Amino acid sequence: MKIDKNIKCCPYCGSEEYYIKQSYTGTCNYNIRFDGKVAENGEMWEEAQFKNTSKYAWCNECDKKLFKIDEQLKQLT
Ligand SMILES: [Zn+2]
Repeated sequence: MKIDKNIKCCPYCGSEEYYIKQSYTGTCNYNIRFDGKVAENGEMWEEAQFKNTSKYAWCNECDKKLFKIDEQLKQLT
């Protein structure tokens, strides 16, 4: 299927969300509380390095390949 340059939703199922594949590496201090309650770990991702592992965007619902993206996650057709 030809993907429109101004795609607004998945042409296969109409989903308004898509995802890209990434890998990440990083280190963090994982916070744990003495009383066993959930500790705040909001900064956990700040040190992480994200890297795109696929050149394509995929539909969130039906997992079909939608369009090609560049390094800045812009849509290429
Ligand atoms: Zn879809």
